[in-house]
Amino acid sequence: MNSDEFKSKWENDEVEVKVLFSAAGVSTTILLTSKFTGKMMLLDVGDGVLRDLLVSSKLDFVHDIDPIAVSHGHFDHVGGLYSLFGFLRMMGRTNPLNILIPAGCSEVISIIKGYRDLYSKTLPYKIWYHELSQDSGFDTDFFKINSFEVEHFSLEFDQGAGVLEPALGFRVQIGETIVGYTGDTRLCPSVESIVRDADLAIIEATQKETSSPDSGHRVHLSINEAEHLGKLAKEFVLIHRIPEL
Ligand SMILES: [Zn+2]
Repeated sequence: MNSDEFKSKWENDEVEVKVLFSAAGVSTTILLTSKFTGKMMLLDVGDGVLRDLLVSSKLDFVHDIDPIAVSHGHFDHVGGLYSLFGFLRMMGRTNPLNILIPAGCSEVISIIKGYRDLYSKTLPYKIWYHELSQDSGFDTDFFKINSFEVEHFSLEFDQGAGVLEPALGFRVQIGETIVGYTGDTRLCPSVESIVRDADLAIIEATQKETSSPDSGHRVHLSINEAEHLGKLAKEFVLIHRIPEL
């Protein structure tokens, strides 16, 4: 596995977007940095997030990351949270960290509550989580975030009684720039709203085959669907590809 295949970078005058890593079933982490302020936010926090931040950014991320927006609770999107929390604690972060999650995302809620309990006496910063749903908003001074509910089933092979995960896509405004991120989703009405007219659309493109009308509880977008959606945005990048093993 050549790890460069799973990284990419985009920028304009206002924002730098780094896909630190994204491969389906392994890890996805995207770093947005406001060029005027140096402030950062993460879209998803897959395994290796800490290593990738240390390699690709200044140590200022310890204090400058806020918020973290999590698309859903699957391990390849949240696996790096524990390491990141631990590193921020070790380095003495004091400003609160806000984590945006889909309403009912029990994986992330459990990780946060467990961590807060474990280190209740020695955690120098607060970890807050915010449960978002369709058209929820969350603004910091630097990032304005809107969330969209998307349709992501738990498992591809669980066709008959598929269980929908709490799952979100996001549109993030940094200055005048809009970045849309689909998260993991099948084709559903929200994805067009997420990517339309965005300066950059970050779109999952997991499935190789083209969709068919009776494809049932499909878990992911196909490459064709993702490229079609990408044309609604000014520019796009496809992520979350299946690695050749
Ligand atoms: Zn995934």
